[in-house]
Amino acid sequence: MRKRIALVAHDNKKAELIEWAVYNKAALSEHDLVATGTTGKMLEEELGSPVKRMLSGPLGGDQQIGALIAEGKIDILIFFWDPMEAQPHDSDVKALLRLGVAWNILLACDRATADFILTSPLMQAEYEISIPDYSNYMNRKL
Ligand code: PGA
Repeated sequence: MRKRIALVAHDNKKAELIEWAVYNKAALSEHDLVATGTTGKMLEEELGSPVKRMLSGPLGGDQQIGALIAEGKIDILIFFWDPMEAQPHDSDVKALLRLGVAWNILLACDRATADFILTSPLMQAEYEISIPDYSNYMNRKL
């Protein structure tokens, strides 16, 4: 069961994400990876396998990943955001987290949660994400 996994790490969290990804290289190789620009470049170099790269986060990469989530093209978001430092694109960070929750995808913001997700038996199974009833929004007439 290939899952579509998006990975994003702020600068102070990149080393942690790369270390996690290298440790889990074998498990990650069974899935399709997409990442923001710099995170993706580092992942490709360290994993030695292709990662689909969006723009760098501050240049719109977070929003591109958010759009993929809204289109139903991402199953899991591993997002190591920095709790200790403001980002120039804080509004995009908030938007990405919001879309992850709005579309009910799996969302890990730290290594412990990422470990639990990656080792879940559901990673090898078909799992249909239930999307909240947004028919009111989809058929809105103002
Ligand atoms: P980056 O973007 O991978 O291009 O550094 C991450 C982010 O800051 O959202």
